Amino acid sequence: MPLDPHLAGLPGAIVHDDIVPARAPWLHPVAAGQTLRIVDLEGNQAVDFLIYAAADDAERYSAQDTVACQANLFLRTGTRLMSNEGRPMMTIIASAIPYHDTIGGACSCESNTLRYGHHTKSQHACVENFLEANLGQGRGKRDIVSNINFFMNVPVEADGALGIVDGLSAPGLTVDLRAEMDVIVVVSNCPQINNPCNAFNPTPVRMIISA
Ligand SMILES: [Zn+2]
Repeated sequence: MPLDPHLAGLPGAIVHDDIVPARAPWLHPVAAGQTLRIVDLEGNQAVDFLIYAAADDAERYSAQDTVACQANLFLRTGTRLMSNEGRPMMTIIASAIPYHDTIGGACSCESNTLRYGHHTKSQHACVENFLEANLGQGRGKRDIVSNINFFMNVPVEADGALGIVDGLSAPGLTVDLRAEMDVIVVVSNCPQINNPCNAFNPTPVRMIISA
């Protein structure tokens, strides 16, 4: 039987395996100790990512606490993704690219019109995906906080400016996250077509959970 290369090195048994279509939202619980692998199937695809504590979703991912805790802006292998209560929610245990972003934010219809012109107002955006995914669990706009952008390249230039530039990723590259508590993961497979974060061509990603 041919081995699926996307499963290589994953600990334990596969308990969930999904393809998230281009531009689509995704939500799934990940129990403490389980591993979530994100596969950038076609390369250069930004995966916007939020985490809520399953026991009480008032506890959620905090970019501020994560950056402060590790005294570094970038998310790398070994980074603990911290909550607004100062507790580790997930840990990046392996990454095929050197770093991921947590300062670039999520694209929205509003930011698109500001950056790219009013004709982009009707384009689908990550904030709409987060809202759609969260709606079934009673969360709304106030629950959308600063997020992680896996596979997105947001360098900080020498003068302190941010760029959104060509991705570091390539087809089949992965990032693995171990849950440190029972969490709910919410994803927007970024629909952005006005900057290079998705190589101007949004593509599907694969989400695999092992236990
Ligand atoms: Zn986006």
